[in-house]
Amino acid sequence: MADLKYVQSTCPYCGTGCSFNLVVSDGKVVGVSPYPRSPVNEGKLCPKGMYANEFINSPDRLTTPLIRRDGKLVPVSWDEATTFIAENLKKYKPSERCALSSARVSNEDNYAMMKFARGVLKTNNLDHCARLCHSSTVAGLAGSFGSGAMTNSIPDIADSKCIFIIGSNTFEQHPLIGRREYMAKAKGAHYIYADPRRTITSSQADLFLQFHSGSDVALLNGLMHDIIKNGWEDKEFIAKRTKGYEELKALVMQEKYNLENVSKVTGIPPADIHTAADWIANSGGCALIYSMGITQHTVGVDNVHATANLQMITGNLGKPGTGVNPLRGQNNVQGACDMGALPVSFPGYQKVTDPAVHQKFADAWGFPEDIAPTQNGYEVTVMMNVLVDNPGELKCMYIMGENPLMSDPDLNHVKEAFENIEFLVVQDIFYNETCDYADVILPAVCYAERDGTQTSTERRVIRWRKAQNAPGEALDDWKIISMVAAKMGYEKQFAWKSASEIFDEMATLTPQYHGMNYTRLDTPEGLHWPCKTPEDPGTPILHKEKFLTADGLAVFFPAEWKAPAEVPDDEYPFVFTTGRCLFHWHTGTMTRRSPTLDKEVPTGWIEINDEDAKALGINDGEMVHATTRRATISVPARISPQIMKGTTFMPFHFAECAANLLTHNALDPVCKIPEYKACAIKITKIGEGQ
Ligand code: SF4
Repeated sequence: MADLKYVQSTCPYCGTGCSFNLVVSDGKVVGVSPYPRSPVNEGKLCPKGMYANEFINSPDRLTTPLIRRDGKLVPVSWDEATTFIAENLKKYKPSERCALSSARVSNEDNYAMMKFARGVLKTNNLDHCARLCHSSTVAGLAGSFGSGAMTNSIPDIADSKCIFIIGSNTFEQHPLIGRREYMAKAKGAHYIYADPRRTITSSQADLFLQFHSGSDVALLNGLMHDIIKNGWEDKEFIAKRTKGYEELKALVMQEKYNLENVSKVTGIPPADIHTAADWIANSGGCALIYSMGITQHTVGVDNVHATANLQMITGNLGKPGTGVNPLRGQNNVQGACDMGALPVSFPGYQKVTDPAVHQKFADAWGFPEDIAPTQNGYEVTVMMNVLVDNPGELKCMYIMGENPLMSDPDLNHVKEAFENIEFLVVQDIFYNETCDYADVILPAVCYAERDGTQTSTERRVIRWRKAQNAPGEALDDWKIISMVAAKMGYEKQFAWKSASEIFDEMATLTPQYHGMNYTRLDTPEGLHWPCKTPEDPGTPILHKEKFLTADGLAVFFPAEWKAPAEVPDDEYPFVFTTGRCLFHWHTGTMTRRSPTLDKEVPTGWIEINDEDAKALGINDGEMVHATTRRATISVPARISPQIMKGTTFMPFHFAECAANLLTHNALDPVCKIPEYKACAIKITKIGEGQ
């Protein structure tokens, strides 16, 4: 038997950031084994992590650069590919260029792409998929607390006296955080779960609040109404650590937010809302946990503000077992945001519109000309609208590790947008749906073939370690970007020799990371930001003494409930909502190439309430037509009493029944997140009218 080598690294899927050992034999990763010293997952893994080796050596991996000539993709050398890209990108004005970075790649790769966009392309038209999952968190919590990140740590959840989960199917999407929720319950915590679907996460609930998708603000305001009415608010915390309470109180104490009226909007019995309010306020420490059920709405920022308001009036912040805890989707969403892969900020959320910040980065980088102007760029969702509505304004795009032709809402609209791009570069590990539109495709390494860091959902910065060589000629994302930058005349600014050199440059410019380096990160624990000096042990719990706002006070943002942008009517009588499943990940590029995971769930489905299905004459497993105002798709029906009557659900991993053909490109006006969680749909038997 060949010698086995064990290389400690980090799971490439969700934002939990579980560590494991990659098992290497004859220079190839052949398996995954437990790494018990991880404080996050303590050696445990969910199925995705358990089989995270299976796609690495897939025969589908991209292995050589490809240029499209006469409609055909032709293998070329790196020199030819990078020269071709540089010559084409140079043809366009900065305002015609845009770039997408990635929550799947490392902090160092994101920093490189951010520097490339601002220093080489001279544009702030830079974004990534956080726009689609947690941009409302970044905007909402930054306003409330001065920081848009999870306030407490993952291990801390197990010490809560009350767990309030809203819009997060934690046991399927972040299973090793679900384990901490379960541990809290096992120690006696009250467990409240609010969601339109009865999921496996609800199976542990002491109190299940099944509510209509899109009624979150009504529910949260109703909880606050009941807490204030019963005198359960934390008066001392409100007085000492917050501002704006009277406006909040005036709004939530309106009669429309009393229990009876909120019950009518949400579908939750008044007594259950009252019990939840009691437990949240009076248990001795409540952790509020949410995910995309809260964020992916046209009122996503209002939803996030409402979660913050609830925890502020009950004093559930700045102490163990409490907090507002948004669970980030992809492994490095937090890091990609931290690295400034956003149209409005440099690393560390330093605003591009601030002239002093602009000068700080221009001076540090030393480009011969000025960097991108002090003007916010376009969000990815807005880029798609501009490409369709104003053809010729944006002309070229560089995409690293994203697949908008599966992940973005209203895919027919996205296709129209991509048809209007003159020059497109896609850099990835597999050929994906977006590659159909690419002029150049570049092969990148995967997580097991690179050194680097990620920042998981709890702000923990942890290491990735190279376990095997990349297939063919695939290279690190940052190396590819550096090669293109050099061809465009900026070799000196991208002359890094290693990922740790990039990290050091980034840490110098990013206050939250100032005290970190690879030597300090070479531990099972990693470090939580903010970590401002070499002696700083990091900060697992934020806001202990004061908030990160200018005056140290948390700010109440009162929010009225508003209905989703598209609600059911006679023609489209059901609510349509989307999400993920336990065995697959996002656009399926990795999990659908993992034979074990693919075998578990080989295709998609639409979940329909059993009474609704009976009325429609639809049987379990039957192919049906699902139709919204944007498209019709054929998909197998899954009939279930677990989903609320009037609501339907689809996972969005499957290209053959792509949920995002149906979703609605209506955006939150502040953060521009789409409303994936609620639009109107009709279901018909195939052969009947659509
Ligand atoms: Fe990977 Fe998330 Fe599962 Fe942990 S919980 S093993 S990070 S997918």
